[in-house]
Amino acid sequence: MRERRVSVGDAILAHSPVAGNGIHFALLTAKLAAELAHSWIANAKESARAAAFYCELARSSRVRHVNALQRSHQEQPQPDLRSAIGGYVRFAGPTRCEPLHVGEGFKEGEAIVLPDGTSVRWLAGVDLLELRAIASRPVPASSVVNYFSATGLSTSRARALMDWCMKHELLSTTLDG
Ligand SMILES: Cc1cc2nc3c(=O)[nH]c(=O)nc-3n(C[C@H](O)[C@H](O)[C@H](O)COP(=O)(O)OP(=O)(O)OC[C@H]3O[C@@H](n4cnc5c(N)ncnc54)[C@H](O)[C@@H]3O)c2cc1C
Repeated sequence: MRERRVSVGDAILAHSPVAGNGIHFALLTAKLAAELAHSWIANAKESARAAAFYCELARSSRVRHVNALQRSHQEQPQPDLRSAIGGYVRFAGPTRCEPLHVGEGFKEGEAIVLPDGTSVRWLAGVDLLELRAIASRPVPASSVVNYFSATGLSTSRARALMDWCMKHELLSTTLDG
């Protein structure tokens, strides 16, 4: 991004066909670039936030894509995180304030920092920051799965999201409640 010129899709980051996600990224950045251009006309303050969000999206997408490619070359067995379902967990993710894309606009808000330095707030339609309130102290892992299920996810997707949160250190296991 330079002044009022915005790159989208492969012009930002040429995704490897091996790791995929190039089409999703192209569509996502095309939509966001249109919103960014709209903010130039509509709202100067939001425009700065939108630009910061867009640059961070490009940076974090690069980090995730490179990491995914590196993982695809390694044959390390993944730990069986599902074993945590029977134990206790608590929220462990650090957070930071940054520009977020909410609805059709850009706002300053809190996001959870992942171990690779990228951040997340919503995944599979779930506001992951809710975990901070739900699991501020050790709670049965099953109650977190139940919370995900209550947002409309199937049990298998709720468990997959739980595994994702464990793998990315948003939740840590504890011995008991
Ligand atoms: C072999 C292969 C397999 C892939 N498989 C997948 C997959 O399974 N899933 C996935 O998500 N991604 C896949 N990708 C990646 C995906 O295709 C790209 O990330 C995606 O198409 C990028 O979209 P884009 O709009 O940024 O660019 P493009 O789709 O490349 O579109 C750019 C367009 O601009 C045109 N153009 C260029 N210069 C000019 C010019 N000067 N004037 C006018 N027009 C111009 C080009 O002709 C092209 O039509 C694959 C890529 C390759 C190469």
